[in-house]
Amino acid sequence: MNEIQYLAEEINNCRKCSLGCERTNTVPGEGPYSASIVFIGEAPGHNEDLQGKPFVGAAGRLLDGLLSQVGFERQDVFITNILKCRPPNNRDPLPAEIKACTPFLEKQLKKIQPNIIVTLGRFSLSYFFPTLQIGKVRGKLLKWNNQNIYPVYHPAAALRNTKFYDLLKNDFQQMVQFLEEKPVEESPITDNPESIQLSFFDD
Ligand code: SF4
Repeated sequence: MNEIQYLAEEINNCRKCSLGCERTNTVPGEGPYSASIVFIGEAPGHNEDLQGKPFVGAAGRLLDGLLSQVGFERQDVFITNILKCRPPNNRDPLPAEIKACTPFLEKQLKKIQPNIIVTLGRFSLSYFFPTLQIGKVRGKLLKWNNQNIYPVYHPAAALRNTKFYDLLKNDFQQMVQFLEEKPVEESPITDNPESIQLSFFDD
């Protein structure tokens, strides 16, 4: 069993929060541990819960399209969520669920060590930067614990409004430029990582 399979198995056996009793499947994440980009969404939805794979519904197809426009395929990147099990009726994740589940995400990021972590939507941005608002920082390269965080809107937002699709398209193009330029240490915006769980829902 390799490291990816071992961690997936650990997640599959997890009952650390009540979502473990309600899920159909866990959704640990998908992609190579050699990926230079990690995408992080909020939590699995209905289709993801049924298939055990991240971003497989309409938002996932839109994400695939955005990737392909900048020369990437899904198998080139690692895609996961803050929570590995679906909250009932797609409700927002609860602070206790986030606290219980994010050690898995931290293990994944430690193993992968990507060049860029792309947060998809408000929740995953809040995990790293509790006080920042996505509308103000999307498309900007941020620094967190010596890692490059690049917030963009969630693909589901682009399904509802073409304005968000245009912004996402632009941000994906810029993401590739950042990758090619090998992002530097400085960042225009920082936040206190120690405060993550305390003020998760601030924005
Ligand atoms: S959401 Fe995370 S912590 Fe909760 S049961 Fe699923 S894997 Fe475990």
